[in-house]
Order: sequence, then C-alpha cells, then structure tokens
Amino acid sequence: MRTLANQDFSNRRAIVRVDFNVPIDDQFQVTDSTRIKAAKETIHYILNQGGSCVLISHLGRPKGKDPKLSLSHIVSKVEEILQVPVSFFGDCVGRAAEQATASIAPGGVTLMENLRFYKEETAGDLDFAEGLSKLGDCYVNDAFGTAHRAHASTTIMAQFFKEDKFFGRLLEKEVKAIEKVMKSGEKPVLAILGGAKVSSKITIIENMLDKIDHLIIGGGMVYTFAKAQGGSVGQSICEDDYCDYALELLKKAKEKGVEVHLPTDVIIADDFSNDANRKVCKVGQIPDDWEGLDAGPETLKNFQYVVMQTKTILWNGPLGVFEFENFSAGTITLGEHIAKSTAAGAFSLVGGGDSVAAVKQFGLEDKMSYISTGGGAMLESLEGKTLPGIAALLE
Ligand code: AMP
Repeated sequence: MRTLANQDFSNRRAIVRVDFNVPIDDQFQVTDSTRIKAAKETIHYILNQGGSCVLISHLGRPKGKDPKLSLSHIVSKVEEILQVPVSFFGDCVGRAAEQATASIAPGGVTLMENLRFYKEETAGDLDFAEGLSKLGDCYVNDAFGTAHRAHASTTIMAQFFKEDKFFGRLLEKEVKAIEKVMKSGEKPVLAILGGAKVSSKITIIENMLDKIDHLIIGGGMVYTFAKAQGGSVGQSICEDDYCDYALELLKKAKEKGVEVHLPTDVIIADDFSNDANRKVCKVGQIPDDWEGLDAGPETLKNFQYVVMQTKTILWNGPLGVFEFENFSAGTITLGEHIAKSTAAGAFSLVGGGDSVAAVKQFGLEDKMSYISTGGGAMLESLEGKTLPGIAALLE
C-alpha cells in the first residue's frame, strides 16, 4: 500500500481527491463538516512537507452545471477547518484549470469546481480522467466515501500515475480498520448487525460468517428470524420471503462455529410512533396489533455479556427505531457497552449506515476505536468486495 508515510511532497502539487460532499442548507451553509475535517490530516501532511494541494471533489448530484451545487459555497468552511487560505477555481478540467494549478506555490491550496458538473466524471470517462491528471504532479485518493465507484476521479485517473499515486490518511485508516475486523482482528470477533431488513444484509452476513466468532442480530431483522422459528411477530417488520433463508443462515452459522445471539425480549408498541403505548414482550409472542421497535432489558443484558467478552467488534445497524426517543434505549445501551469494551481494550469499528448516525447522536463518537466515514463504501467492503478506487491505487 503506497501511503503518505515517507513520501516527499516538497515542491510537488498533489491532486487530492477528497470527499467534500457535505450537506448544505438553503443559505449555502455547511450543516455537517465531518467530511471536511476528515480530510484535514492528509492536506496538512502534504502542506507541512512543502507541497501544495489541488483539491477535487463532487457535491450532490447535479445534472450539468448547477450554481446551487458549486463548491464555492464551502470555501470559507474549508478555510476555517484547515486554517489556511484556500483559493477556488470555477472549473475542474481544461487549459485554464491547468494553468491555474500550475502556478500554485508550495503551501497553497486550491479547491476546484464540482467534478459532477461533467457527466464524464460518473461515466468514468478516460479523456476526462486524463484531463484531471494534468492538474498536478501526483495523485492522492482520500475519498473513502466514493471508493466503491469507478468514477474518473476516484478510480480511472489513477492509471495516469504509475508510482505517484497514494492512499490518503483517511483512506488508509478506513482500509486498515476494515482489515482489522476482517483479517487480523484479535479473537473473539463479534459482528453486530441491526437495521431494518435481512434482505439488505444478506451478502454481509454471508461474508462475515467465515471471519467471526459471534454474531448479534438486532433491529427489524429479528422478526424475520422469530417468524421463521414459528413465533408470532404481530405487526413487526418482517420479510416472509426470507424466513427460509433465516433458518438456513442459522444452520450455516452453527456449521461454521459462529455463535448467533438473537434477542429474547423486545419493546413492543401499539403504533409505529414515538408516543405509542409500550411494553416488554417475549420475541415470538407479540400480540396481533403490536410491533417490536426496540431490544428488551433481558436481551440487552445478554448482549452486554457478549460485547464485554469480545476483542474485536463490528457494529452495523441500530437495535431499534432509535429515531424515536422512546425506542432508542436499546441502541444507546448497546453503544455504551461497546464503548466500555473499547475502553477495556477491544477494537470497535462502527460503519455502514445508521449506527454511525446513532453513535454521533448519542455522543459516543470518541469512545469507539473507529467510525467509518463511508456508508456504501463500507457496506461493500463488509460484503467482501474489492473497491475499485482502492484496487486502482494498488495496481
Ligand atoms: P439500516 O439502514 O438497514 O441499518 O436500517 C436502519 C433503520 O432500521 C433505522 O432507520 C431504524 O429505524 C430501522 N429499524 C431498526 N429496528 C427496527 C424495527 N424493529 N422496526 C422497524 N424499523 C427498524
């Protein structure tokens, strides 16, 4: 893996593919700057070595040039976070863009206009990628959030740099965190898979079974398993078509020596709403008009025991409808237990979906070993796929 370590960037212009696809409000203010902060380490590393940075990114899904999705809106936020002046250039390819980047002095940072103003970006167009490659002397990919896309800036342009292509610090950290869970994690290894549906997690579960010792299943997926085992699930979210698969999966897990932990009790509600009536119920005994929306107290105790005895923990998906305050306790409690296990020496990776939002919402962000910045990219990694953006850097 070609990382930034031991690379000399002095007097070199690094084209850094960042993921500045941040949410912006009606007033063009950045409402969550996590992704900009995540790119800081790479940019500072290059600048501190006497190099300069040409930042390229996409923002939103524009159809052609759309001033509302211009990256010019975020320049002041990027300056505030990086604590260095950032110039903006209103295009990302062509002679004028090349001339503008050719004259950046060491220590300089230029943010180029939204890559997706050109349809060639998502099409992975070779000529467009070649145009992008002319913006600097070397290529650094730090956009984990788009590493699962074979776009011009994330994958295709890497071929124009034989040796001079590098993993940015964020990309490196993401890849190493995944490897720690999938390959080199200290045993016992636990995967906690929650969220809404079994169908969206099948490939992940299948891929994880060879790598883990324990599997906790939570969230809405639970009811497909409960029904498959002959239980009553009332109005709970349930995928009838996947009941057979659920049983097959339990069998496979047993064959592979993976211990599966399913909830024994859940919090049920008489409506899908925060203000619904609530009570604790055995998983397979849910009355007809009720539905399971969170993990129950006995379940949380059992899960706590598992979390505290494992040394490597992957968490993907909430244990309940955490968006409703009255049904968020299970997800919060599980998060707190993972935090405790982490403090006691376990490695914890939270990634790929709503568990990341939950961890942030409940203030547990700093208590996990690593929180992934990429939704889809993390999911595909957990599914065992090689991300094209990463493969292109390794070639
Ligand atoms: P995912 O994107 O698959 O991780 O699913 C996350 C979503 O699953 C969240 O929006 C949760 O509200 C939802 N979820 C979790 N538990 C349940 C449940 N018991 N019933 C319905 N939805 C759930």
